[in-house]
Amino acid sequence: MTLIDVAIIGGGASGTTTAFHLANKNKNVSILEKNISPTERICGGGMSAAVQNWFPFTLMPIVDEVITNVEFSWCNTDKVIAELSGSSPFWIVKREKLDSFLLDQAVNSGCHLLTTFNVVNIKMSSNIWQITALDGRQIESRAVVIADGSQSPWPKVFNLGPRKQKFASTFSGRVKRKGNLRNETARFEFGLVSNGFAWAFPLNNEVNIGMGTFLENKNSIPVNEILKSFLPDLGFDPSEVIGQEAKLRVWNGHSNLNGNGILLVGDAASLCDPFLAEGIRPALMSGFEAAKTLIYWLDGNVNSLDNYTKTMKTKWGNSMAWGNRISQVFYRFPKVGYQLGVKRPTAPKRIAQILSGEMSYEDIAKRVIKRLLFQTSSS
Ligand SMILES: Cc1cc2nc3c(=O)[nH]c(=O)nc-3n(C[C@H](O)[C@H](O)[C@H](O)COP(=O)(O)OP(=O)(O)OC[C@H]3O[C@@H](n4cnc5c(N)ncnc54)[C@H](O)[C@@H]3O)c2cc1C
Repeated sequence: MTLIDVAIIGGGASGTTTAFHLANKNKNVSILEKNISPTERICGGGMSAAVQNWFPFTLMPIVDEVITNVEFSWCNTDKVIAELSGSSPFWIVKREKLDSFLLDQAVNSGCHLLTTFNVVNIKMSSNIWQITALDGRQIESRAVVIADGSQSPWPKVFNLGPRKQKFASTFSGRVKRKGNLRNETARFEFGLVSNGFAWAFPLNNEVNIGMGTFLENKNSIPVNEILKSFLPDLGFDPSEVIGQEAKLRVWNGHSNLNGNGILLVGDAASLCDPFLAEGIRPALMSGFEAAKTLIYWLDGNVNSLDNYTKTMKTKWGNSMAWGNRISQVFYRFPKVGYQLGVKRPTAPKRIAQILSGEMSYEDIAKRVIKRLLFQTSSS
């Protein structure tokens, strides 16, 4: 059996990004994907244009809509509109298009793709990883990247990721026309979903409709009831949306994302934002950073992959620690949060800046603390 450099479990956004960057540096890499190709993914497809920084090719061919305005509402009323300014607009993509595009880039750079490879066993023997599929196929590699999404069993098996995994309950579907959603506008509705929010994102001639609830004691969403209230406000009949529910693993504390020759990326690494469910940007970021660390490691430059965990903590985890605190407070008292937070004159702009990647939750928290200190000292 040929020994490859890196086996990547999962051909989603995080796995394909890791694969592209490794293959682009001539590493012998294979994606092991359980499906034949990316099918329609359960995802809103909203992502910051800042993700472009991690690729040497343009992502514009797969962008369905560039968002310039964000509209917030509370039970379809009390609306606030924020213009997205600055250099990082917010894009909406069809996830299956993004994933196929990144997969093509990886394969064109020399990555091997093994489809219908449903990984059921991963073990290490004499510093070599052995990965086995349900149908008995086997691959041997020097390193393994776990990129198989929110249901990944491997972090627990290898004692990586947060000690306690946390899941948001979500729903996402599409309506095959535009309704009355304004052009280039993403809508966030905070009053209809307990401990969470609903959204409507424009996609060329369709609209993605979704919802998520983020506090764990509220784990099921009354999807139909919420659609009945939300969709008429967008000019749709609730029966028009076809979608699915899913559990989304979200960030739940700083944790170790690497072991000896093994790295977690994307949802398998519990990187998804626990306030706004932003998971594509950290999936792409972690894929990029994982590949960078692995390239050094494969070239014999460093003994361990610890730099990956450290980098992800600095570049993403520190902001998520604040996002988690904000989420816990906001979704417990959403009405107060909407009135005092979202309706604050500068708040929509700040949320827009978070979504566009211009600001982190950490920056926002520091500003609030500074403002409070200033108010206390001047009163
Ligand atoms: C309803 C919903 C809406 C969302 N909306 C947004 C949004 O608007 N913006 C945003 O930024 N994020 C959003 N997210 C989050 C985002 O979709 C995820 O964070 C992102 O998909 C993570 O990518 P990934 O590559 O880690 O995992 P995935 O995209 O889940 O890819 C995992 C891959 O691994 C494969 N796989 C799984 N098991 C195995 C196995 N045993 N063997 C081999 N392969 C396997 C799967 O087939 C899949 O191809 C949303 C999530 C949900 C659920």
